[in-house]
Amino acid sequence: MLSAFAVGDAMGMPTQLLSRERASALLADGVFVKAPSDHEICPDLPAGTITDDTDQALLLADHLIDHDGEFDSDAFAASLLEWEALMRAKGSLDLLGPSTKAALELVAADGAANVSLAGTTNGASMRIPAVGLINSVIPATEAQFLVDQVRAVNRISHNSWQANVAATFVAVVISAGLDGFDLDTAFNVGFIAAELQAELMGADFGQSVFARLRDAGFGEISAVFATLGEHFGLEYLEGNLGTSLDSEQSVVTAVALAALSPEDPYQAALWGAKLGGDSDTIAAIGASMVAACGGWSSQMDWASEFVLTTNTLELNERAERLVAFRGRKHD
Ligand SMILES: [Mg+2]
Repeated sequence: MLSAFAVGDAMGMPTQLLSRERASALLADGVFVKAPSDHEICPDLPAGTITDDTDQALLLADHLIDHDGEFDSDAFAASLLEWEALMRAKGSLDLLGPSTKAALELVAADGAANVSLAGTTNGASMRIPAVGLINSVIPATEAQFLVDQVRAVNRISHNSWQANVAATFVAVVISAGLDGFDLDTAFNVGFIAAELQAELMGADFGQSVFARLRDAGFGEISAVFATLGEHFGLEYLEGNLGTSLDSEQSVVTAVALAALSPEDPYQAALWGAKLGGDSDTIAAIGASMVAACGGWSSQMDWASEFVLTTNTLELNERAERLVAFRGRKHD
């Protein structure tokens, strides 16, 4: 699951912020390519390199491992600031997103306890997979804990219903997948949890793109891909769901890609990468949901091997340690 996330992130690295046309052209012949020399934030970064998405998802994963599955906002804010300083020192421009950055500036001045910004961008959803790994959705009391923990993790920087609804959906689908549900069923559980999260935040779930997606289903999107092919399918996704940093665009598009490729995270990631825009995040989230629900392919074997080696990443032991927190006692 974590390796599928890293594969998606690395596939989308060279195409992030590019137009769909340029992104698709760049990936026409190769799956992992180096970033173009004129790339705004990662010029010439080698093929297969992960970005801030995987870094931040693993920061939260390691934080939860170090804190026995509990979340400590002060300590996590400190580790994000430390990570950003390290990235800056390395000369990277692939840094904190807008919501997290604004929140951490306040944390640095006042401490984490009173900081709460209502960011609506997808940083919340890209960091959240570990929360799905450490919590089961069975029984309902565990699902409730998961929903509450998503909100706790997002409070400092993404305390909006939009970011929380999206992050809840992602975490719950991953969790339900590990509980043995297929993608379809995991999505149903995800929609229920997302609606609960909206209610807990006093929001009307009916206003959410997730509610529209639940009601409309994926029939039309699938039909466009099946009848008109990839080019027009991706154009449809970009035009109808969107690829911006906004949770209500990029996360929803990631969900659609997972639905389009329920057996193969590799295909979901490749489509996400070809979209351009926030392609690395879309590909990472889409691929990880598919993998959590049991989707895998022989392509994923070599792709994950390549990305893990390129970035000297250790993910299996991390995932095992995270999953071992399931069923733990809560204070
Ligand atoms: Mg990124």
